[in-house]
Amino acid sequence: LAAKLAKQSQLPAETLDGTRIALNANIEFPHETAACLARGADGIGLYRTEFLYLSSDEEPSEEDHYQAYAEVIKQMEGRPVVIRTLDLGADKMGRGKLAHQENNPFLGLRSIRLSLRNLDLFRPQLRAVLRAAVLGDVRVMFPLVTTLGELRQARMLLNVVAEDLADSDIPYRSDLPVGMMVEVPAAVMMLDHFAREVDFFSIGTNDLAQYTLAVDRSNEYVADLYQSSDPAVLRLIQASIDISDANQIPISVCGEMSSNPARALLLLGMGVRNLSVPPSALPRVKKAIRNVSIEQCQAIAERVRKLESARDVDLYLLDRLAELA
Ligand code: PEP
Ligand code: MG
Repeated sequence: LAAKLAKQSQLPAETLDGTRIALNANIEFPHETAACLARGADGIGLYRTEFLYLSSDEEPSEEDHYQAYAEVIKQMEGRPVVIRTLDLGADKMGRGKLAHQENNPFLGLRSIRLSLRNLDLFRPQLRAVLRAAVLGDVRVMFPLVTTLGELRQARMLLNVVAEDLADSDIPYRSDLPVGMMVEVPAAVMMLDHFAREVDFFSIGTNDLAQYTLAVDRSNEYVADLYQSSDPAVLRLIQASIDISDANQIPISVCGEMSSNPARALLLLGMGVRNLSVPPSALPRVKKAIRNVSIEQCQAIAERVRKLESARDVDLYLLDRLAELA
């Protein structure tokens, strides 16, 4: 059985009609990379680097960042690795000098906002990413971008840091692809503008659902309202896909939504060709992909567009999954 599973894991994530889907993995720690490879991941679609902070009492140095990234990149042997810059704050607040109290932390100083206000935190990370990027197919991604100004600030800082490296004759990758998470409705509304200034997008359905539905993703009292399959969330996802396609900017989905096989098929039907899921979800998502055609997925998406609640969407999707996979 183990041998059979191992063989299956190395089959491509390809639909019945031969459409190749990039099936990547989300990781939080370098030691997870081996499991991703064993389960046949095409790349790392989301490396949540804030865990470098959360797992230690001390602030990581540029060298700590570099070592962690190098470990992942080398193991991936040329496969794509998307390094997301620090997404600290709100639910991911470490101890130490960054810790602070806010009434509405999810609407507060978190993620890219926190990084842009703490350059002594952000700069070493960007230096380490630029340096490590010579070791493989690396891309950098900024989280929670809400305005064009934030993206421009982050890109400018990346350029300044690159110039510093050049001045010191430290090797780095000068053409590092830069992407952003699409996880705030405001970013979706402005996505055609963002498309002119990034190399790729990745939809973070966890935060996109939270900010669209006005539901704190960590609040158990309203957990029933927190659904990435809510039709309002689906419309924002569809708009993001359509805008990125129209502008020929690659888009992926790295939120938890894509680790649910039924919802993953819906995403394929909506036009997504790149998914990133936790390592544990790789086998089940790949199995679902290999059992359907794109045409079947498109029919699913067509039907779902007419539904009016997350419950109706999920019931329909489960039904279809049972028939197909
Ligand atoms: C998301 O918001 O969907 C996402 C992938 O990022 P995180 O869960 O780390 O906020
Ligand atoms: Mg997020």
